[in-house]
Amino acid sequence: MRFKPLFRRMYGITAAQVQKSLTTVKWFGQPLKVTRINGVDRSLRAMAAELERSPEFQPFVSPSAGTFLWRTIAGTPRLSVHSFGGAIDLNVARSSYWAWNGCQEGQRGIVYRNAFPLALVQVFERHGWIWGGRWYYHDTMHFEYRPELTGAEACQQRP
Ligand SMILES: [Zn+2]
Repeated sequence: MRFKPLFRRMYGITAAQVQKSLTTVKWFGQPLKVTRINGVDRSLRAMAAELERSPEFQPFVSPSAGTFLWRTIAGTPRLSVHSFGGAIDLNVARSSYWAWNGCQEGQRGIVYRNAFPLALVQVFERHGWIWGGRWYYHDTMHFEYRPELTGAEACQQRP
C-alpha cells in the first residue's frame, strides 16, 4: 500500500513538478530518468556499479523496460511509483506479471511465476528498494525505492 498524499508531497503533484527533479542515471549503458529526491538517483547509480561486477545478473537487469512514466497502474485509478521517478522495471523478457494470464483483480488462485534470482533481489533490497515479485499481484520486473520499508541505510541518514 502507498499513502498517496505522502508521495505527492515528496515527489510532486503533477508530471511537470516531478520532471523538475528528474536526472539521468546510466544503467548498463542505458540512460534512465529517475528523481533526485530522497537520493533515488544515488541509490540507482550505486546499484548499477555493484551489479556491473556480477555479469550473471546482466540478462535480468538489462535492458530496463523503463523508469519515469506518469501513469496509473493498469486497470486502476492509482498512480504508479513510476509516476514519481522512483521505480524501475527490469528486463521484461525475464518477467512475470500477475495479469498476463488473464486474471482479474480480486480473483483467487493467481499462479506465481518468477525467474529473477533471489541474490539479485537482495541487492535491490539492501539499497532500499522493494520488489514487485513479493506481492500477491506480482510484477517481477518491478522495483521501487522505499527505504522506509526496507530499513536501508539511506533512510537512517540525517540531512
Ligand atoms: Zn514497474
